[in-house]
Amino acid sequence: MDTTVFEAHESTIRGYCRNYPTVFASASNARQVDEDGRSYIDFFAGAGVLNFGHNNPRMKEALIDFLQADGVAHSLDTYTTTKRDFVARFQEVVLAPRGMDHRMQFMGPTGSNAVEAAMKLARKATGRREIVAFSHGFHGMTLGSLAATANDAFRQWSGVPLEHIHRLPFETAPGGDTALAEYRTALQDPSSGLLPPAAFLVEPVQAEGGVNVASRDWLHEVQDLAREVGALLIFDDIQAGIGRTGTYFSFDGMGLDPDIITLAKGLGGFGTPIAMNLNKPEVDDHWSPGAHTGTFRGQGLSFVAGTVALDYFTDESFLADVLAKGERMRERLTALVREHPGLGWEVRGRGMIQALDTGDGAFAKRVQQTAFEAGLLIGPCGSGGRVIKLIPPLTIPEDDLLQGLDLLEQAIRTARE
Ligand code: PMP
Repeated sequence: MDTTVFEAHESTIRGYCRNYPTVFASASNARQVDEDGRSYIDFFAGAGVLNFGHNNPRMKEALIDFLQADGVAHSLDTYTTTKRDFVARFQEVVLAPRGMDHRMQFMGPTGSNAVEAAMKLARKATGRREIVAFSHGFHGMTLGSLAATANDAFRQWSGVPLEHIHRLPFETAPGGDTALAEYRTALQDPSSGLLPPAAFLVEPVQAEGGVNVASRDWLHEVQDLAREVGALLIFDDIQAGIGRTGTYFSFDGMGLDPDIITLAKGLGGFGTPIAMNLNKPEVDDHWSPGAHTGTFRGQGLSFVAGTVALDYFTDESFLADVLAKGERMRERLTALVREHPGLGWEVRGRGMIQALDTGDGAFAKRVQQTAFEAGLLIGPCGSGGRVIKLIPPLTIPEDDLLQGLDLLEQAIRTARE
């Protein structure tokens, strides 16, 4: 493994390579192989991007055809055949069956682009400035999205403008959410100085913040309050969407009706970048043409692979399999908690985003390092990195999933010694 060129020339800010100190050379589905030929089971999937695995063969075939036909790889936001195919297929597979009339807006390459645009549109549509965001939320690293992100350590004293963010506690249980009730009361009291918000920005399943799953009822409480005070409801489904929780959207089947949904990460299917917002038409109408532009909003490779990705959601066995594999992950994590009693460990998650909260960042780091040495890639998250998050590709073969869980179990035992 030769890292000299990185050490000499790349900024020292790089972070993930410290977790995985090797040089990866190839990858297939849920495995990556380094240049020395060591194979690693991937329970991190590019931070939740590779829902359909590395080098997904169906997408690869479509991409090779596209390249051979000299398809338009970059198109700004002009019309292209690949974009038309994606829009039509997304409408058919995702929006129509749910009776949704949201418009698709391509935002750029990253999730942060989508969140920035969602906040901007909500402000424009309501004529208000304040955004309500929640504790432990993660929405991105650009100034606006970072302001909405709860973790102050990411702000690095860089003067991120926080004055229009109102932070409330993220509750996983319904009822008795006194913070929402107090906020409602304060908004009605002119002496509180609070201005009515443009939007509530929520991850229905928080990922980076430690895998916290909101209940249906709490999400309804948030939605009801948003409606009551004339604010929009924005769901950030960038990490938990696109099948991760066993349904296309993480909030499917809950009777919720967000005004804006942000999507990115797995949307492009192949790990190719693309972000998209789904805006209700009456909200979307507040944009004028050219009001929100950007260079990379027509990524042909992402449209091609993303269209193939949508096929997975027409196959009922796919999501059933995601739920079954998620259950397997949960059982094994629960068994680990039983094996190590009295430590206050907790298992959280839904579908194939499952996590073990160890309450101890140094311990989780040791597990991650030990797992890496044994050939398993995992990523810590949550407060102080104390939560071990498992987000393998949804397409991971059963054997790799079980082997990865064995490696995790072993790494936890070793880290406890
Ligand atoms: N929202 C959520 C829920 C995320 O998990 C992330 C990325 N971890 C983002 C937004 C930001 O996406 P990106 O890193 O692509 O800008």
